[in-house]
Amino acid sequence: MPTLNADLHCHSVVSDGTLTPEQLAERAAANGVALWSLTDHDEVGGQQRAAAAARASGMRYVTGTEVSVTFAGETVHIVGLGFDADDEALRAGLRATRGGRGARAREMSEQLAAAGIEGAYEGALKYVGNPELISRTHFARFLVEAGVCRDTGEVFRRFLTEGHPGFVPHRWAGLRDAVRWITGAGGIAVIAHPARYRFTANEEYALFSEFKAHGGQGVEVVTGSHTVAEYARYADTAREFGLAASRGSDFHSPGESHTDLGQLPPLPGAVTPVWDLLADRIR
Ligand code: AMP
Ligand code: MN
Ligand code: MN
Ligand code: MN
Repeated sequence: MPTLNADLHCHSVVSDGTLTPEQLAERAAANGVALWSLTDHDEVGGQQRAAAAARASGMRYVTGTEVSVTFAGETVHIVGLGFDADDEALRAGLRATRGGRGARAREMSEQLAAAGIEGAYEGALKYVGNPELISRTHFARFLVEAGVCRDTGEVFRRFLTEGHPGFVPHRWAGLRDAVRWITGAGGIAVIAHPARYRFTANEEYALFSEFKAHGGQGVEVVTGSHTVAEYARYADTAREFGLAASRGSDFHSPGESHTDLGQLPPLPGAVTPVWDLLADRIR
């Protein structure tokens, strides 16, 4: 059903969101979400709580995560849906992907100190809910608290991104590995927010064709960071590559996210909704 209110992308305190899985479930249900997934970055530690909270709120639930990948020198995010969250190879892969965040964070802090901003590592840690998952988002919250920037959007424009203080290049998982961890655990791999990558047309084509060759099956079409024109554009791309279409807010926090849970428009017509492929994995 293309009009199902499915929200298959958001973050809790288990990664870089500010709400607990239970608070997110309550908010999603209040906004009319019927099928929900919590997709914390490189983590499945919140899955049991999310599934239980979804059940208590009367929503259907599908397991989720968002894996950080390096492809053609750019960070790409691959959402996994409907996998077995106890799968050992998936858990080991995510653990390895999380590794290195601590050292990266200390380097980010050193760069920020050199730019005159002291104590960023300790400041960011105050916002961290999962010690294995310190992210740029936690630094962004500290820089707002410290009065350096007005909001986290300004932080990412002035700091933490390529060419700005606090950006530390990082090598994440390989595309093939990320897709295999997800599909090996019985799940469906989905390219997250494709319009956000700074790829040439050739690089984007390579991403989609290699993803498909590795066994990827979906792409986010309607997501919090896409424009209406981008919904149409990636609906076309989904059809061109024979991929199912996903919908997810990418909600992180009431104070920071422009798009709330369950509030995006429905998928455009003539695409296969990813939940059609997930039917036997929904609980
Ligand atoms: P990391 O995995 O540590 O590199 O952090 C990536 C996270 O930073 C993303 O998942 C977003 O939550 C956040 N982020 C990245 N770019 C921006 C931006 N321009 N504005 C706000 N948040 C951003
Ligand atoms: Mn995030
Ligand atoms: Mn993402
Ligand atoms: Mn996300």
